[in-house]
Amino acid sequence: MNGLPPLSLYIHVPWCRRKCPFCDLESRGLQGPLPGQAYARAVVRDLCAQKAGVQGRSLCSIFFGGGTPGLLPVPELAGLLDAAARHLSLAAAVEVTLELHPLDITPARMAACSAAGVNRISIGVQSFDDAVLAALSRPYSGAQVCAAVRCATEHFDRVNLDLMYGLPGQSLQGALQDLRCAQSLQPEHLSWYPLSLQPGTPFHRHPPPLPTEEVQADMESEGSGYLAAQGYQRYEICAWSRPGAACRHNLNYWEFGDYLGLGAGAHGKRSVRPGHIVRERRLRHPARYMAAAGGDGVVAERCTLDATEQMLEFMMNALRLCAGFRLQLFTERTGLPQGGLQAPLAQAVDKGLLVLRDGWAVPTHRGLDFHNELVLLFDGSSSSSASESNSPSG
Ligand code: SF4
Repeated sequence: MNGLPPLSLYIHVPWCRRKCPFCDLESRGLQGPLPGQAYARAVVRDLCAQKAGVQGRSLCSIFFGGGTPGLLPVPELAGLLDAAARHLSLAAAVEVTLELHPLDITPARMAACSAAGVNRISIGVQSFDDAVLAALSRPYSGAQVCAAVRCATEHFDRVNLDLMYGLPGQSLQGALQDLRCAQSLQPEHLSWYPLSLQPGTPFHRHPPPLPTEEVQADMESEGSGYLAAQGYQRYEICAWSRPGAACRHNLNYWEFGDYLGLGAGAHGKRSVRPGHIVRERRLRHPARYMAAAGGDGVVAERCTLDATEQMLEFMMNALRLCAGFRLQLFTERTGLPQGGLQAPLAQAVDKGLLVLRDGWAVPTHRGLDFHNELVLLFDGSSSSSASESNSPSG
């Protein structure tokens, strides 16, 4: 549809085997059997209720995230993909990503997921070091995760590994060894991010022994040098890929595209017309979500972004990209004139956080390191604060 951004679909599965002590994502430990069929039926009702708002637009990507979407049986995953194809329109090269916990990976399940239409796998590895994995309460060993990744790469060309650094008890050499292990498995994509102690998590209440800031800075700089030498390109603050292998789904977020959010606690963003952007969040509690799905009562929050919010949200996303953004993209996505950008752009350039080049605004290395400081220059209100969108998963 003319003038509207690319459209993605995000499907949230809100359960995990148990909650990890560092994780603040929208998920809860399973208390009994997973209600897979009932949940998938509710998501399809939700999809049908939302489709009228995106008529005539094709999905460029679908992402099953969580929580642990690999807990959903493959027939339910396949049914959801089938429903997306029947009720919405899929682009010819639609990217379909499934997040997986290492323990969810078996040859039979990988073959079934591939047959169902999944074409990209994202594995929540976090580390290959047994002691570090134990400190994170991750219920697998480094050897198990290596076997799981090998199994995934036998069935899928497109595999991402989520890895963290700055972990409890981790040394600089340990962090680099994790990257060497990852590289030896040849994934096309790595999400590599520092552990942060998120409010509300056990790690925030009782911080484990962590590397000093100096050691973490060394991990970041030496690890980045290693990944670059191995042929990975950093294209976002925490995302590295082989050339041409960027995650299209996440790129659509960072380029301020639209996405439908289905599932308990899922967020969505939809442009009704250029400059008229609606954000929604669905009910968080799975049972309440399932009961309300298909009706408007499933929406827990809905708001239309004003011009100040649009500018701030655009910058929170686009300034995560190493290539930055075309200035014209700002107007295309928000409907706002570029005049309002001039003063904050000039400030950002003065502070050495950004350069302007051939109609693009490109964060400097310092601008990527101090992302929040950079984004806040574009905050026309005094009360908003920027937050980071990249998160651990699986
Ligand atoms: S890190 Fe992944 S597996 Fe652990 S609680 Fe968060 S979403 Fe669940």
